Amino acid sequence: MRLVFIGPPGAGKGTQAERIIQRYTLAHLSTGDMLRAARDAKTPVGIEADTYMSSGRLVPDAVVIGVIAERLKEADCQAGYLLDGFPRTIAQAESLDAMLAEKKTPLDVVIELRVPEEELFKRLAGRGRADDTEEAIKQRLVGYANQTKPLLDYYGKQGLLKTVDGLGSIDDIFNRVSTILDAFK
Ligand code: AMP
Repeated sequence: MRLVFIGPPGAGKGTQAERIIQRYTLAHLSTGDMLRAARDAKTPVGIEADTYMSSGRLVPDAVVIGVIAERLKEADCQAGYLLDGFPRTIAQAESLDAMLAEKKTPLDVVIELRVPEEELFKRLAGRGRADDTEEAIKQRLVGYANQTKPLLDYYGKQGLLKTVDGLGSIDDIFNRVSTILDAFK
């Protein structure tokens, strides 16, 4: 199964992603995790990404697309994967489509985890990650609204989009997601 997971920062994507990859045996491809690892290892990509990440802005498309293109070639991705935090722009989605079309391995489903904005701000402000300053949080929410939300329409038109209510307990939300994903096993 090839799955894209879309949701605003603070929606609980990471938590749900951990459970999903276990239940469906998928590789977990989180561009946020990859970029943080690159930043900590001080690679050229990591150093470039750091300035964007710490201010809550998106890292340039070409950088993130390069990272994902390399990752998708690895052996553990061939049986299926969950993309968590990628694509985040239309340009990234188009590049991904082109890569997958070439390999004849299209996406199976795109899940949107939907959470109201007031709730997101509350959750993010309580999380305490290094890039969770008030200014960076606002910037990430604005970035989501302007750059990532258009993907809902993009994948909706392809007939791939399923929206899940992201309010409730972790178990409740996981049950909603599983009901959808069981159809693609
Ligand atoms: P995340 O852990 O997914 O919230 O990502 C943390 C930060 O990494 C984001 O605020 C961005 O600066 C950067 N980032 C992660 N994924 C992407 C992406 N697909 N495109 C651009 N920037 C990204």
